[in-house]
Amino acid sequence: MMEPMIHRRYISVQVKVLLMKKKVLLLNPPARKGVIRDYYCSHLAKGNYLWLPQDLLVFSGMLQDDCDLSVIDAMVMPLSEDKTLEEIQSFSPDIIICMVAAVNWRSDMRFLSKLSQKTSALIIVSGDYSRIYPRQVLTENTCIDAIVLDFSHCGILSYVFNPHSDSIVNIMTRESMHEEIVAVNEACSYPPPRHDLFPIKRYHLPHIQCHPFTTILTTFGCMHACSYCPYERIPFKLRTIESIEQELRSIKSMGIRELFFRDQCFGSHREQAYAVCRLFEEVSHPFSWSCEMRTDKADETLLKAMKKSGCHTIMFGVESASENILRKHNKNISLQRTKEAFHLAKQLGIRTLAHVIVGMQGEDELSLQRLIDFCIELDPNYVSFNIANPAWDTSFRDALEKNNKIFDPKIEVDHSIGQPVWESSQLSARQVWEFRNRAIRKFYLRPTFVIREFFGAKSHYRRKMMLKAGLEVLLNHSV
Ligand code: SF4
Repeated sequence: MMEPMIHRRYISVQVKVLLMKKKVLLLNPPARKGVIRDYYCSHLAKGNYLWLPQDLLVFSGMLQDDCDLSVIDAMVMPLSEDKTLEEIQSFSPDIIICMVAAVNWRSDMRFLSKLSQKTSALIIVSGDYSRIYPRQVLTENTCIDAIVLDFSHCGILSYVFNPHSDSIVNIMTRESMHEEIVAVNEACSYPPPRHDLFPIKRYHLPHIQCHPFTTILTTFGCMHACSYCPYERIPFKLRTIESIEQELRSIKSMGIRELFFRDQCFGSHREQAYAVCRLFEEVSHPFSWSCEMRTDKADETLLKAMKKSGCHTIMFGVESASENILRKHNKNISLQRTKEAFHLAKQLGIRTLAHVIVGMQGEDELSLQRLIDFCIELDPNYVSFNIANPAWDTSFRDALEKNNKIFDPKIEVDHSIGQPVWESSQLSARQVWEFRNRAIRKFYLRPTFVIREFFGAKSHYRRKMMLKAGLEVLLNHSV
């Protein structure tokens, strides 16, 4: 007589288990330095700024309906390792989706190993190095259960609901690691991310106009293939306009006005860029925004449409002042075209940032001197002076490895504030580093520049951020 009762109780437990939402934690783990881990390009922050980890933001949209979600961004809070572990234990997740980064690799792996001893949750990671070498990472780090290979694809959903399914795509699991990788490269579409789950007021960027801000993606990967760039081999895809519109409306409902586009090259797909500009008008909210762009895509019609829809700052990749060097690195843009783009943006009242790379293959002392003169001639509002360190999975890195040029083969390669890990016959690592620091001082300590930027800043927030970022850059890289 007892049997049917036990059976009923068993069934009801099963139903309860099915109905119970999985507890999923989105985690940006702690680190000592300002580590920026997102979107397959990790680096160390040059100043006091951080933005929302884009991978986690996208996952928050995909998982919100079917999971009990929580977010811990230990970088921005900031939280110590112990405090982070304590908070994780108190949430008691079934699954932890954690950012990891090449620039902080050993430290991230140590933390995950500690974490796996304190929780029975499955640990899945998303990051640059793990995406490139998933089998090796799974083999060397038994604390990791799976690796996301494309965060813009909803493969994460099938993994969360059935980690043992054999139809999971764009995720490498421990079970599937010896099989062929199944990758799907279709237009991305995901529900509006849960920006509200992130500690939004804690994120800062020196160039934004209104605080708080958030980030958004309208395309994924890049249509171009510059040989030094982490996006060289990441296939390009569009995000559907419907999906972008839903996210803009959701951000509007939170009262947020400022957006930082995480697209690697806004405007490369022209129809998408115009469609996004039109969306801003349709959504009808006073958004102001900034983005990354190639100078050869910045023509007057597109820049006018961008300005009209609220774009206030464009970050252009300038890289070098030598057309020869640019060509060698598969960036075929003339210096004249670059000058025109900066001029045009300035005429339209759009602020500019120039990304430059110090010490690319083929540079010598003379061409580096021309680089700083070129930066001053372009007259942007910011210059980001980066080091030509070889990012993982690039043709540039392949060439250096082939010729045994890398003297420091560690995983933690940083192009932002990291010391050079290779040298050429024209320039030693020390010369590159010293030039970079000299260039920062020469560009930023011009009295006309300081007066224009500091006293011309329209808000107290902007002045405060500029002062902080400026002081940090100068103190950290003065000699
Ligand atoms: S540098 Fe810019 S344009 Fe070139 S591959 Fe990278 S993201 Fe694309």
